[in-house]
Amino acid sequence: MVSLSTTMRRLGIITVTNSAVVTPTLISSTASFARNLTLPSPLRNHGLTNSIRFLKSRSLLSSLSCFSSSAAYLPALDEFPSTKGSVAMRDDKKKVILKGMSYASLQEWVESHGFRPGQAMMLWKRLYKDNIWAENVDQLEGLNKDFKRMISEHAEFGALSFKDVRSASDGTRKILFTLDDGLVIETVVIPCDRGRTTVCVSSQVGCAMNCQFCYTGRMGLKRNLTAAEIVEQAVYARRLLSHEVGSITNVVFMGMGEPFHNIDNVIKAANIMVDENGLHFSPRKVTVSTSGLVPQLKRFLRECNCALAVSLNATTDEVRNWIMPINRKYKLSLLLETLREELSSRHKYKVLFEYVMLAGVNDSMEDAKRLVELVQGIPCKINLIQFNPHSGSQFIQTDEDKMIKFRNVLAEGGCTVLMRFSRGNDQMAACGQLGMLGAIQAPVMRVPEQFRTALKASV
Ligand code: SF4
Repeated sequence: MVSLSTTMRRLGIITVTNSAVVTPTLISSTASFARNLTLPSPLRNHGLTNSIRFLKSRSLLSSLSCFSSSAAYLPALDEFPSTKGSVAMRDDKKKVILKGMSYASLQEWVESHGFRPGQAMMLWKRLYKDNIWAENVDQLEGLNKDFKRMISEHAEFGALSFKDVRSASDGTRKILFTLDDGLVIETVVIPCDRGRTTVCVSSQVGCAMNCQFCYTGRMGLKRNLTAAEIVEQAVYARRLLSHEVGSITNVVFMGMGEPFHNIDNVIKAANIMVDENGLHFSPRKVTVSTSGLVPQLKRFLRECNCALAVSLNATTDEVRNWIMPINRKYKLSLLLETLREELSSRHKYKVLFEYVMLAGVNDSMEDAKRLVELVQGIPCKINLIQFNPHSGSQFIQTDEDKMIKFRNVLAEGGCTVLMRFSRGNDQMAACGQLGMLGAIQAPVMRVPEQFRTALKASV
């Protein structure tokens, strides 16, 4: 028998505690280990049975297996039933969900019911174009009666139920949606000056990547979103807020989840968003962000012409292994070399590196110089992002003066640099703040010795 606390220490995991819940955040990286645990009594008294059940679930155990050096980090995509395909049918009613269908699938479906391809295009335009954004059959003006009857018998329009919208003092709006299974996702609309408004969509409920500076990561992964659930976020944001914030011009896949962990549905949704007869976002203005899943990144660059952002956040493997556990699977050198190779043949394509600045962790001038070296030969822009604190976070914001000095080192090194300060902070709508924690949370990783004094929490 192995004691829980000993093993957690060996795995480099610590537990977090608050007054309501003792969170035995990581117990084992293998199912067999979970069976052999000796549980300290405090954990038994605080619902550990549920935690063990949680950890035994295939998806989480697979996610947590990053802490065992020999195990694969990521769960296979088909471990999540909703990952593949558009999930265009609602199980209970056997109706298709229109928002998750590509135009080709929609046309095929329309023809299979005995209607003309031209009618498919009319339907597509009413779903996505000309400020109609139809959400029920009554809004399908100009379509013939038989066609409308067929649609109401065999199709649903959307996949989301509106729950709430919260406005931050800076004009950022956070929209909450309830899914069919009762889970809740968040979508953020960020008005900017110069007539640009961005919608930030979620691709998963929660996230398996467990980036240590991210609130969503602490939720763990609940499930992938379908293509319909992703597309509907952008449609709904336009329908709900265009009259207030003006035209929504940009989409970023930077909400809840790691988009490339749900790549089938993300590519499908992105392709629907850029269709010129539909929502018609410019591919340059639809940006998909990843924490660095290398095989999926290659696939994305080959199958989708939308923009790519890579969340980098560190200049050494030591720091990145800690704050972004995905780095244990795909090291910085592999990630950057892949980008160098893949982008070498692309014309005028730049990757956006995101760099969340954490005081005393990744914001030294040595980091800035290393960053200049690391991105050599990669067509890129670098976005320095102010860290957005949240309850339980152990990191501290880098102050603005230091961000500017860091920016200057990058600029002197020849990099194109942008700076992004917090938006929507007072409504937990800022980058890395989305989601809702349950009683069971993803593990907090052991802080490397040399960074402990830089963190505000004693861990
Ligand atoms: S930063 Fe992105 S990839 Fe990392 S845990 Fe948060 S949502 Fe997931």
